[in-house]
Amino acid sequence: MRYYVRLARYTLEKDILLEFSEDFGLIIPANLVKYYNKSLGSYMKKHQKSYFIDPLTYVFTHPANMLKKQSGKLERNSKGKYKLKKSYEKLVEDIDPYLIEQFIDKIPIQPNYFLEPDNVDRFVKKNIQIQKESLSEASEKISRYEQLIGEESEENDNRLEFFVAPYFYADRITDPWYAINIELINLTREYLGESLFYGVLCINKNILYQRDIAEVIAEDYDNCDGILLFLSDFHSERESLATLSRFKEFVYSLSQETGKPIINLYGAGLSPFLDKYGLSGTASGLCILESRNANEEYGFSIARIKHYIPSSHEKITEDNFRTYLRSFDPIEECKCSFCSYISQIRERYINNQPQYLDHIANLFTSERGFLMKGAMTHFLENRLKEVEKINTLTSPKLLEILHDETALAKRYELSLDTNNFSETILNLLEDWTK
Ligand SMILES: [Zn+2]
Repeated sequence: MRYYVRLARYTLEKDILLEFSEDFGLIIPANLVKYYNKSLGSYMKKHQKSYFIDPLTYVFTHPANMLKKQSGKLERNSKGKYKLKKSYEKLVEDIDPYLIEQFIDKIPIQPNYFLEPDNVDRFVKKNIQIQKESLSEASEKISRYEQLIGEESEENDNRLEFFVAPYFYADRITDPWYAINIELINLTREYLGESLFYGVLCINKNILYQRDIAEVIAEDYDNCDGILLFLSDFHSERESLATLSRFKEFVYSLSQETGKPIINLYGAGLSPFLDKYGLSGTASGLCILESRNANEEYGFSIARIKHYIPSSHEKITEDNFRTYLRSFDPIEECKCSFCSYISQIRERYINNQPQYLDHIANLFTSERGFLMKGAMTHFLENRLKEVEKINTLTSPKLLEILHDETALAKRYELSLDTNNFSETILNLLEDWTK
């Protein structure tokens, strides 16, 4: 099982990520590649982590995310056209400047755009070019500059793990967008030759209930080297046990039918455990983006802080995070720097409960930046530990750990309104044998 961190709030995340020397990959969204080009180029040189670029092309059909808003309202320019956010403007301009003109009616790209072979061709070529050149060019420029000022330059090896074909959201496999995705994959293969690339299965989660669908998908996705799974609006912490069970079976069949690596692009607490069922990788943002609805605007609210409960394999809301810090000693299940810090404070105020509560209340008002970073670091440390356990321990040992965690997580059920997700995982993994 390989874990990937999706960059989302780059300026906040970049220093946190550097604190971790463990092996994990990065997912860089194409709009960030364009927007933070120089900074990212130099960052990736320093970071020494491998990565892939998410082309994010599906947002072109649901552009709410891409349009600029001022106090909740869409902004228009002097010609009456909708204004794009800067990061997307660069991306769209690079792929096809004509598309920017289309934002006047808010839906810039429709299936008929791809009836024109030139458009298909340009789309595929530009997508490859962005992934191939953007970061390595920025990083080469930095190397040249370093040589110029006489600084020792590290070798400029590109750590792009694989390319990703452009993709759009399809409601079902008879949706025209599904056929377009396959066309884009097949053409990407033509242009890339032998180079490694993944196709994205970006589809309605109802697909989980379609019989024998994995076989059909395997045949359609034959030309790519791996599949990135993007089940729209699928959030394992909120789905029923029956749906989660279908998900497990779907991943297993897809892996069996294709014989290719499958990576879940938006995975929460369950995904790392599906290693035993053919999932080779899972990804999420730091405390965000463990699910995504392809048709909805996403706004990562910097204002709300979520906290990951390791024994329960789920995140709690800010209100519950407050209750958690007031009522429990986090060191009992995590020894990261943040949890150790809280535990020390608890100890210091052991005879003065009101003062301790004041201190915690203070964190949520005047020290929100510290709290946010603490929650993100704590999450990453725990996710990496989980993945390491999954990669190194036998199934009976993992089941034993899940049993213990279930017992530990029980105490949060009422006060923090958690679902004891470790129990759900345990139920799903009952058929593990070795
Ligand atoms: Zn911790």
